[in-house]
Amino acid sequence: MAFASTKQLALDARAGGYAVPAVNIVDGISIAAAVRAADAAGSPIILQTSVKTVKYFGARTLADAARAAADEASVPVALHLDHCPDRAVITEAIAHGWSSVLFDASDRDFETARAETAEVTAEAHAAGVDVESEIENIVGVEDGVGSDDPNVHYYSDEALVGVAAETQTDLIAPALGTAHGLYKASPVLLVDRVRSLAALTDIPIVLHGGTGLSPEEFAAFIDAGVSKINISTQLKLAYMHSARDHLAEAERSGKWEPVKLFDQIGAAVGEVITENATLFRSAGKAAAAVTA
Ligand SMILES: [Zn+2]
Repeated sequence: MAFASTKQLALDARAGGYAVPAVNIVDGISIAAAVRAADAAGSPIILQTSVKTVKYFGARTLADAARAAADEASVPVALHLDHCPDRAVITEAIAHGWSSVLFDASDRDFETARAETAEVTAEAHAAGVDVESEIENIVGVEDGVGSDDPNVHYYSDEALVGVAAETQTDLIAPALGTAHGLYKASPVLLVDRVRSLAALTDIPIVLHGGTGLSPEEFAAFIDAGVSKINISTQLKLAYMHSARDHLAEAERSGKWEPVKLFDQIGAAVGEVITENATLFRSAGKAAAAVTA
């Protein structure tokens, strides 16, 4: 089927008390594996990519591969551009029919972030594309975007929701105490902040830096109102570790079969999706989901 609306998937999830897994795919193998696993679990899924991946393959190639996988699936599939401070790349994703983009203005000051977010939502909405907005810093560097400096930009709940409403943002990515990458120390999670934001607005709330949280922590965030959860690092590790294991075995056995490598990577990526669809309670929810 055609791409689903990221905003609609998140709204359905919030109403249904679950969160949609948003996983950072990196190529055709991970796209196919993620969609097949979501289909088998009956879970809606958001495929998302970093700007780095878009720069490698191009927005058209990724959209074509994701659309082909979505066409074979019976669950809703959305394609989302993750953390993008670069307006030219956003325009490229919009031109190739992606479901949504994350305009990352966390490196801009408040007034600039507000003005540019309004411009991006106007451009995206004219093409039927949803916008996730980030104007606060989420700690950690992800594929070259972001900062290890905590809370350079951090605003009141009212200011955050005010900007989102004024700019017609479709989803918001607030600072929630989580970080990108692997945790070196236990994070201080701002579950209460989600509850407070959810009381102020119906705009879906996105949790970044999901890798490494416990099942109880995910449940607390979902119960508080998070409806899209981003998983990047876990998928990267599953991808690379399975490739390493396969290549080590090929070296030992002397058997070099690329498709067997793809199978092993695909199986590892699929397991990540299955696990998260269960943790986020999105498994079995696809039938009820409305697509755009
Ligand atoms: Zn993120």
